Amino acid sequence: MAHETVKVLIIGSGPAGYTAAIYAARAGLKPILYTGGQPGGQLTITNDVENFPGYPDGVNGPQMMVDLQKQAERFGTKIIYGLVTAVDFSGYPHKVIVDEKDEIIAETVIIATGATAKYLGIPSEALYANRGVSACAVCDGYFYRGKEVAVVGAGDSAAEESTYLANLCTKVHLIVRRDEMRASKIMQKRVQNTPNIEIHWNSETEEILGDESGVTGAKILNTKTGEMKVLPVKGFFLAIGHKPNTDIFKGYLEMDDTGYIKVLPGSTKTNVEGVFAVGDAADRVYRQAITAAGTGCMGALDAEKYLVAKEMETVH
Ligand code: NDP
Repeated sequence: MAHETVKVLIIGSGPAGYTAAIYAARAGLKPILYTGGQPGGQLTITNDVENFPGYPDGVNGPQMMVDLQKQAERFGTKIIYGLVTAVDFSGYPHKVIVDEKDEIIAETVIIATGATAKYLGIPSEALYANRGVSACAVCDGYFYRGKEVAVVGAGDSAAEESTYLANLCTKVHLIVRRDEMRASKIMQKRVQNTPNIEIHWNSETEEILGDESGVTGAKILNTKTGEMKVLPVKGFFLAIGHKPNTDIFKGYLEMDDTGYIKVLPGSTKTNVEGVFAVGDAADRVYRQAITAAGTGCMGALDAEKYLVAKEMETVH
C-alpha cells in the first residue's frame, strides 16, 4: 500500500476538475488529480462545443479536454490515470483509496466526479451516439435547426429541452412512456402551448433508425393501443435524468434524494470540513461545461482559503 500526503486532491477530469487544478496549481498547492474511469468526462462523448465562451468557431469536446489537461499540467498539476474507489472522511486528514489499493492522505479533497446521463439501453442508441443521438439539447440542439427531432422523457428536463428545441427545429416529438408527465404544471403548460411540439403518450422507443449519415427516424410503440409509428427525425434526445457519480461518498456527505452532493449555498463547501464539491456532482440544475468550470474555480479558492486558515490555527 503506497502512502502519500497531498494538500489538494482532485477527483475527476472534466471541466470542473481541470479548472480546480489550474487554480490550485497556480496557487502553488501542487494538486494531484485522479482522472476517473472516463478521462475528460462527459465532453469526450460530444463533438463540437459551441457554447463555451471564447471559442468563436466552436471547439471539439475531446480536444478541449486535452487542452484543459495541458493547461493544468503546465502549472504543476500531477495527473494520474486512476479511479478513486473508496474514501474515508471520518477523520482528518482525509483518506482516499485509488484503484482499490493505494491509500492517499489529503488535507483537502475537491470532488469533481460529474454525472452520467441515463440512456434507454437499446442497441441502436449506442450505434448512433453523436450521430443524431444526444443527451443534451442545449449542447447539440443547434446542429438540428430546421429539422425534425424527438425527445424522450416526461420530467422538467424533457419539458425544458422540448421547448428549447421547438425554437430551433421544425417539429419536436415528445415521447412519454405513461399517460401523464412528471414535469411541473407550468412547464407542462408551456409544452402544450407550443404548436410544433407533438406529445406521444404511452409510447416507448423500440428502435432508432439510421444509415451512414446518422439518425433518420425513431420507431415507437403505443403500449396501450399496440400501434407502431415511425417518426421521421434526424435528432433523438434523451432527457430521462442523470445520475451523479457520487456513490462512493454516501455515508459521509449530505446529498439530495438523487445523490447530488449538497453544498453551502454560494460556496463549494460540503458538510465535511476540507471536502469541496464542484461541477455536475453538485449541480442538478445547470449542468453546463462553463458552470462546471466556474464552480471548479470556486472549489480551488475555497480549498486554498481552508488551508490558509488551518495553517493559521496551528501557528497560533
Ligand atoms: P426526472 O427524474 O425528474 O424525470 C425523468 C423522466 O424520464 C420521468 O418522467 C421518467 O418517466 C422518464 N423516464 C425515465 N426512464 C425512462 C425510460 N427508460 N423510458 C422513458 N422515459 C423514462 O429527471 P429530470 O432530468 O427531468 O429532472 C431532474 C431534476 O432536475 C428534477 O428534480 C427536476 O425538477 C430538476 N430540473 C429542474 C429544471 C428547472 O426547474 N428549470 C430543469 C430541469 C430539471 P416517469 O415519469 O414515467 O417515471
